Amino acid sequence: MSANEKYDVIIIGTGAGGGTLATEPERSEPYAHAPLRHEPRIQELYDDLKRIGHNPFPLPIGVRLGDDKSYPQPDYVMGKFDGFPDPTESKADAHVCAVNPALEHNNVTLLTDCYVERLETDASGRAIKTVHALHKGQAAIFSADTVVVSCGAINSAALLLRSANDKHPNGLANSSDVVGRHYMCHNNSAMLALSKHPNPTKFGKTFALNDFYFDSDDFEYPLGHIQMLGKSDAEMLKGDAPAFAPGMALDYMAKHAVDFWMTSEDLPDPNNRVTLNDNGEIVLQYTENNLEGHTRLIAKLKGMLNELGCQNHLFPCQAYLGKKIPLAGTAHQCGTIRFGKDPKTSALDENCKAHDVDNLYVVDGSFFPSSTAVNPGLTIMANALRVGNHLLRK
Ligand SMILES: Cc1cc2nc3c(=O)[nH]c(=O)nc-3n(C[C@H](O)[C@H](O)[C@H](O)COP(=O)(O)OP(=O)(O)OC[C@H]3O[C@@H](n4cnc5c(N)ncnc54)[C@H](O)[C@@H]3O)c2cc1C
Repeated sequence: MSANEKYDVIIIGTGAGGGTLATEPERSEPYAHAPLRHEPRIQELYDDLKRIGHNPFPLPIGVRLGDDKSYPQPDYVMGKFDGFPDPTESKADAHVCAVNPALEHNNVTLLTDCYVERLETDASGRAIKTVHALHKGQAAIFSADTVVVSCGAINSAALLLRSANDKHPNGLANSSDVVGRHYMCHNNSAMLALSKHPNPTKFGKTFALNDFYFDSDDFEYPLGHIQMLGKSDAEMLKGDAPAFAPGMALDYMAKHAVDFWMTSEDLPDPNNRVTLNDNGEIVLQYTENNLEGHTRLIAKLKGMLNELGCQNHLFPCQAYLGKKIPLAGTAHQCGTIRFGKDPKTSALDENCKAHDVDNLYVVDGSFFPSSTAVNPGLTIMANALRVGNHLLRK
C-alpha cells in the first residue's frame, strides 16, 4: 500500500519499525508513520530483550498517537485501552477510519439497528436479488447490484446458512460444505509478570516479539507471537486475587504489573464449526488443537523474566477470561467462509466473491484459510481494502 493511495487513512498512527524480521513482509518504501515511542519501563524491557539476543520490534497498531500531536492522549484512553470504549476516537477502528469518512460521500447511507435476516437469490440461484432485514424492528427489504457481507466470522456464516434455498440446500454459497466450518480463534493467553521496580506505564502496547513465530531452538514447529498488552489496574486484578501470593496487595500488584498477550495458531479443523439449531439459533462447536506450541511459548516468556527485571512468575489475567481464553473468547473469530482457488474446498474465490453466487462478497475475518498467530484486525482491514479496489476496478 503506497502512501498516496486513496485508503491510506485506514492504518493510522504507526507502522512496524523496519529491520530484517523474518515475519516482516517486503515493501517498496518506508511506512507512512513512525513507530510509537515506548514509555520508559517498556523501553527498558525492549532494551533488555535486545541485550539477551532477542529481536523485539515496534507493534503495528491502529491508534492515532505517535508523532501526531493533533490527537489527544488523555490518561483514561491510554490507561484503559483493550476492550474499553474510546469517546476521544483515538483508536483507529472501523468507525473512525472507514465509516465516518465514507459518510462524507452523499451516495453512502448508514442504517443502524438493522439486522439482516436472510439473503434471497433469483431463480437461477446465481445472484442475490433481495436482502431481508429487520430495521428498527420492522421488516425491510433492500436490493443492490453487489452485496458485501461483513458480519464477522460467526454471524456471516450463520447468515449464509440461514439463507439456504432450493438452489443452495446446504446454505447460500455452500456447495463446498465449508461454510461455518474451520472456525478458528487462536490459542491466546493474557499473562502478567511483576516488575521488580514499579511500572507506571500508561500505554504499553508498543512492541512485540516474533522470535518464536516459526520455531525455537528446542522445537521445530511454530510457537507464536508475544506482544505487550494494555496496562492492568487494581480493579481488573480483583478477579485474580486468589491466584496471587497471599498477603500481596492488589495495589502493589497493579503498580508492578507488566502485561503480556500471547497468540499461537490454532489449526483449521472442519469439525470446529458454526451451525444453526432447529430454532435457527447459532451453535458454536470448538475443540482446542495445536496447544503444545502455545504452552512452550508461555514457558519461553517465563524463562526470560529474570533478565527482564521481573519476578519469576507469570499470572493468568482473569480480566481476559483467564489462563487460556475459552470458547466465549470469540474476539479473534475467523475462517468460517474460507477463500481459495478450488470451489470444492473453498466458498470464496481469491477476490472474496462467492464461487457459487456472482454478486456476493464476504470481507470480514471469515475468509482466513488459516489463523496465523497475530491479531487479525489489520489483516481483515487490509483485505477489505483490497476487495474494495477490486470492486472499483470492476
Ligand atoms: C475486546 C477485544 C479486543 C480486541 N483487540 C484487538 C487488537 O488489539 N488487535 C486486533 O487486530 N484485533 C483485536 N480484536 C479482534 C478484532 O476486533 C476483530 O478481529 C475484528 O473486529 C473482526 O472484524 P470483522 O469485520 O470480521 O467483524 P466485526 O468487527 O465483528 O464486525 C461485524 C459487524 O457486523 C454486525 N452484524 C453481525 N451480524 C449482523 C447481521 N445479521 N445483520 C447486520 N449486521 C450484523 C455486527 O454488529 C458488527 O458490527 C479485539 C476484539 C475484541 C472483542
